[in-house]
Amino acid sequence: MLVVGKLPHGSDLMAELTAVAVQSDVKAGMVQVIGALQRATVGFYDQWGKRYRELVFGHPLEIVAGMGNVSLRDGAPFVHLHLSLADEKGSVIGGHAMAGCTVFAAEYLILPLPGIELRRAYDETTGLHLWEQDRATPPGFAELPPEQQQTLLNP
Ligand code: ZN
Repeated sequence: MLVVGKLPHGSDLMAELTAVAVQSDVKAGMVQVIGALQRATVGFYDQWGKRYRELVFGHPLEIVAGMGNVSLRDGAPFVHLHLSLADEKGSVIGGHAMAGCTVFAAEYLILPLPGIELRRAYDETTGLHLWEQDRATPPGFAELPPEQQQTLLNP
């Protein structure tokens, strides 16, 4: 069942999207969001230091594109979202959405992936909590003949 709606003016983007995913009990899904922020905090992952560097923008920005996913981290729905944000001149910045993105207006869509459960676990190599599975397929997929599996994977 598709979950669509708008987020409250003045709310925190990630807190609200996470609340929607929790309330809707999404265990795996795709996320899209567009709209505008009053201020933004995005992360750039330092691959050597293995931590996010926070980039704070204290002015209004358009959400040109917000895309991400929902999976389970520590057993609870977890939203991973990346943002492309444009300023008043149309210049785009972006990064990994963090707490501190204040909604001016935001329209979201969460598309659950039925039958799939994606779980995050700490990955030593990257220092990130990545999906445990290399490939997650819905129930019954493994029982399909190989040619049908190929058709579904490469439509
Ligand atoms: Zn990210």
